[in-house]
Amino acid sequence: MSIRLLDQSTINKIAAGEVVDRPASVVKELVENAIDAGANAITVEIKDGGISFIRITDNGCGIPSEDIEIAFKRHSTSKIRTAADLASISSLGFRGEALSSISAVAQVELVTKTADSFFATRYRINGGAEEGREEIGAPEGTTFIVRNLFYNTPARKKFLKTPATEGNYISNVIEQLCLSHPEISFRYIVNNQPKIQTMGNNNLKDVIYVIYGRETAANLIEIEESFEKFSVKGYIGKPSVSRGNRSFENYYINGRYIKSNIISKAIEEAYSGFLMQHKYPFCAFHITIEPEQLDVNVHPSKMELRFANGNYIFDCIRQLVYDALSHRELIPKASVDSHIEHKPDTSVNYTRVHENIQPDLTVKEEKTDFKNTRMPEPFETKRSEEYSKKVEPVVYKQAELFDDKMLLREENKADISVIGQVFDTYWIIQYEENMYIIDQHAAHEKVLFERFMKDYRECAITTQYLSPPSVISLTGHEEDLIKNNMQYLENCGFAIEPFGGNEYAVRGIPARFSAADPKDMLFEILDALDENDRKTTSEVIRDRIATMACKAAVKGNNRISYAEAKSLISELMKLDNPYNCPHGRPTMISMSKYDIEKKFKRVL
Ligand code: ADP
Ligand code: MG
Repeated sequence: MSIRLLDQSTINKIAAGEVVDRPASVVKELVENAIDAGANAITVEIKDGGISFIRITDNGCGIPSEDIEIAFKRHSTSKIRTAADLASISSLGFRGEALSSISAVAQVELVTKTADSFFATRYRINGGAEEGREEIGAPEGTTFIVRNLFYNTPARKKFLKTPATEGNYISNVIEQLCLSHPEISFRYIVNNQPKIQTMGNNNLKDVIYVIYGRETAANLIEIEESFEKFSVKGYIGKPSVSRGNRSFENYYINGRYIKSNIISKAIEEAYSGFLMQHKYPFCAFHITIEPEQLDVNVHPSKMELRFANGNYIFDCIRQLVYDALSHRELIPKASVDSHIEHKPDTSVNYTRVHENIQPDLTVKEEKTDFKNTRMPEPFETKRSEEYSKKVEPVVYKQAELFDDKMLLREENKADISVIGQVFDTYWIIQYEENMYIIDQHAAHEKVLFERFMKDYRECAITTQYLSPPSVISLTGHEEDLIKNNMQYLENCGFAIEPFGGNEYAVRGIPARFSAADPKDMLFEILDALDENDRKTTSEVIRDRIATMACKAAVKGNNRISYAEAKSLISELMKLDNPYNCPHGRPTMISMSKYDIEKKFKRVL
C-alpha cells in the first residue's frame, strides 16, 4: 500500500499518547517498521546509549521515493486505511506517528531504495524541517540515522538517564525483538562493539542461547499446541532456571512483545507447585491468534492488548504449561564432558549470516569487530575443533534422546531398581539406560512437604504430643510473634502454652514433622514469621511448611535402611513434581549408560 494520511475519524479512534519518550522507543519503532517492511536482516547501532546516535539498517521493501515526505507527516501510514482495519491488524505499526514524532525531536537521515527504483533517496529532516534530498546509489532497503535526540527540547532531554542506563533499555528492546522474530537476523552494535548477533534461521532455541546463554538454552522444555482460534509454540524453562523477577517471562503475540496479566498469571499458576515462592519462570513462546480475537489498539506503545476471550486463553495456557512441566524429564543431567549437554548446531554457518546482512548504506564510522560477541558454540574456535571430530553426531543424538525420556511416568515407576547408597547421603537407582542419583535429604524434605501440604489443604493435620513438653524462653518480640500467630500455629499442629514469665511449653508439634527438634523447628518458624510480614498468606504458609519439612527431613550423612530408601523413593516418584525440593534445589541428577561408557572410552 502507498503511504496516506489517515482521516480524522480514524485518528480519533487510535489510542493516543507519546510514542517517543527515550532512545529505546525510537529503536523499537524503527525496528518494528523494518520488520513490517519484510526485512530479514536488521542492524542496530547505537552510541551514547542512543542519545547521540542510532542507526538502523534493514533489507526490507524500502519507501517509494514519492512517499518519503508524507511518511514523516503525523498520522501517515501504509498499514491501515480506515478505522475498520483496526479490527484486523497484522503489522506491528498502524498509528502512522513514529516517523513524525522522531523527526520532530531529532536530526534524522534516511536512505531508502525500493526494488523497482534505480536510485536510492537520501533525505534529511531536523526537528520536523526538511533539510535536503538527493539521489544516491545504495542497495535495496532502508537506513535511518537518528542523531541528538531531544536536541531541540531540552526539557525532555533532562529526563533522560545516563547513557549506560538508556543503553540498557535499548538492549532489552533488542533482546525482545530478537526473540519475537527468530526468522530475522539481528545485529546489535553498541559503541562499535558488537553485542548481539542472531542467525535468522527461525530457530527460537538458538536465539535463546544467544540472549540468555548456555545454561538456560540447555534447560528448556518445548511446548507446541493448537487450540481453537490460537496456537502456541516455543519454550518454557525447567524449574531449575527460575529467576527472582518476572522479566524472564517472555511471550509474543503475532510477533509482538507484550505484557499480559492473563498470560503471566496462567504461566505462574502452572509453575506454582514447581517453583519456590518469589521465583519466576523463564519462558519464551509465541502465540499466533486470529487478529480479530485481539484488540492491539489499547495502549500507545502497543505493549498491552485485549483478548476477545481471556478466560479461555488463560485456561489453555495454564494447562499447556502445567502438562509440559508434569510430564517431562526435569532431572538435571550430571555432565561427563561439558559439550554433551548442548546440542551443537553444525548446520549454522557464520559466514552465511554475514552475507545475509545488507552492507551499511552510509559512511562507516569505525570498523566493528565480532570477536567478543556471544555466539552459539560452534563459532568458538576450541569447541568447533571438538565438534569437527567424527564422534559429534552420536553425542548430539544421545543428548536429544535423553531429553525425551520420561522416567517418571506412572507406568515406569515400578521398573526402577534401587542399587545402593554412597557417602551416607545419595541413593543410586537404575532405570533402563540411565543412572539416577537421589539426594536423600532433598527427597525426604520434598515428600514431607507434600504430605503436609496435603494435610493442610484437607484440614487433616494431627498433633504429636510431647511428654514431657519442651520448654522455651522467648524474648518479648518472640512472645508477640507467638501470641499474634497462635491460631495459625495451632492450625499447623503446634500445641503451645504459657509456662510462666517469658517461658512457653511446647506440648505438641505437627505429627508429620515429629522427627524434628521441637525448639529448633519453632524458632525457625518464628524467624520466618518475622521476615515474612509482607508476603501473602498462602506464600507465608508454603514458606513455613517448607522450613518445617527441611527441619524434619533426614539429613545427609545419616544412614537410612535400604527399605526406608526404597519406600521414600517410591513415594517421591508418585509426586507431580518429584524433581525439586520445596526450596527449588534438585532432588536428583542423572547420568546415562552412554555417558559412563564414554568415560571409559568404550564408545567414541
Ligand atoms: P506506521 O508504522 O504506524 O505506519 P510510521 O510513522 O512508523 O507509521 O511509518 C510511516 C510509514 O513509513 C509506514 O507506514 C511505512 O509505509 C513507511 N516506513 C517506515 N519505515 C520503513 C522502513 N524501514 N521500510 C519501509 N517502509 C517504512
Ligand atoms: Mg511504525
